[in-house]
Amino acid sequence: MSTIIRLSMKNIFRNLKKGLRCGFGLKCPRCSTGSLFVKRFRMHINCPNCNLKFEREQGYFIGAMYINYGATVFLVFPGYFLIDLFNSIPFLANFCVWGVVSAVFPIFFYRYSKSLWLNMDYILNPNT
Ligand SMILES: [Zn+2]
Repeated sequence: MSTIIRLSMKNIFRNLKKGLRCGFGLKCPRCSTGSLFVKRFRMHINCPNCNLKFEREQGYFIGAMYINYGATVFLVFPGYFLIDLFNSIPFLANFCVWGVVSAVFPIFFYRYSKSLWLNMDYILNPNT
């Protein structure tokens, strides 16, 4: 019993590691070599290497918005409070800096959030 649990935990960590590697590398979750993006904001419809369809259904990448939002909040809130705690920057300057970061970071992280969403979903539902 414990061997089965240990093996499945090992598989979970291996799949999670692969998902994060492919997610941040902007690679296909099935073959790990096909590129997800044609251009900066334009995705391939299918994987150029293994032909996996990336957008499984209409509205599929709404979950990527949650990842993008969470990453932005995870960056901006601690950043604001850490700078406020350890520096004597005026409130308005600190607020403006993190306001700009919260507007620019999601644009930068757009590709990664879609890639991470696709890879995490493929780990949980590889057959669909
Ligand atoms: Zn592929």
